[in-house]
Formats: sequence, C-alpha cells, structure tokens
Amino acid sequence: MHEFSIAMSIIEIAEAEAKKADATAITELVLDIGTLSGIEFQALDTAMEMAVKNTLLENAQIKVNKIQARARCSDCGEEFDIENIFDSCPKCGGLYHELLCGKELQIKSLVVDTPDVQ
Ligand SMILES: [Zn+2]
Repeated sequence: MHEFSIAMSIIEIAEAEAKKADATAITELVLDIGTLSGIEFQALDTAMEMAVKNTLLENAQIKVNKIQARARCSDCGEEFDIENIFDSCPKCGGLYHELLCGKELQIKSLVVDTPDVQ
C-alpha cells in the first residue's frame, strides 16, 4: 500500500525531530496534505493508525489539514478550485494554468512531551 510507506516516512521524520528535542513522546502531529498530492485521505488515516504502533507517536493526536488544490488560469488569470490536474478554467475554458497549491505532503507542526528539566 502506497499510503503505508508514506505513513512510515512521516513517522520517521517526526521521530527524528522529536529526538532532536529530547522528547519522550509526540502528543500531536499536524499534516498538510493537498488534494492533488496523490494521497487517499482515508487510506492514509488507516495506515497512520497501524504505523504508529510502538513509536513515539503511539498516543499522538494526528490531524490532517486537507488543502484544496487551487490553480490560476494562464489565459484570463482566474483563480479556481481544481479537482483534477487536467481541469480547464471555469471562466474561459482555457487549458493552461499554474497550480497554486494542492500538492502538499508535509508535516506542518508537532507537539512533543519532554522530560521535566529540574
Ligand atoms: Zn481562464
């Protein structure tokens, strides 16, 4: 499953960050995922649930920030929500556009537990 290997690499990155901060656990993880990133949201949820077992993220609250893909038409400059990379401009029907966002696949933030330093 494609999403499972993505979940594993997300966890790897999050754990590396947490270890830099000497954290004992990750309590919250926020992901930015674009609707054109190629990720199936449901599948990623399921994959994350399985993949966090025995990691610092085991009890973390995982939030997915779904980013609606947006494009700007190269002909008329209209900005619009795009569902498919080959969608044409809803205003002028132009086929060429620049993707503004929607390919995100990254960790936005994470919250960690660190041992009390006395
Ligand atoms: Zn247009």
